[in-house]
Amino acid sequence: MHAVFSAIAGGVPPSDTARLRLEGDIVEAMRHSTLCVEGRAAVRWTVRPEKAGSSLIKDRLAIAANELLSQPILSNVRECSACSWLFLDLSRSRSRRWCSMATCGNRAKAQRHYHATREA
Ligand SMILES: [Zn+2]
Repeated sequence: MHAVFSAIAGGVPPSDTARLRLEGDIVEAMRHSTLCVEGRAAVRWTVRPEKAGSSLIKDRLAIAANELLSQPILSNVRECSACSWLFLDLSRSRSRRWCSMATCGNRAKAQRHYHATREA
């Protein structure tokens, strides 16, 4: 899943291996799911715990990944340039580089400052 979304964040196609693995996970999760129709709201796949058993969490992640793959917000998926975590960039400028300013952002800035002062 990470390999597929990382590729998408980088604007390149995922490897066949990663894509086929995610595809298999989604198909398996669908087998454990049911369509949830509530009024005029968007129809969603819902994992049935009694069918999923021990793969409940994995199935829910696969269903969520499938939903994200079909939404326009997919273009907001980014990969942190420091730790490779994936996140949705919902900033106005769409230029967020780190998963968290408090951790990776500050670490990157401190590292830049260290190298800049060392060279001076
Ligand atoms: Zn990070």
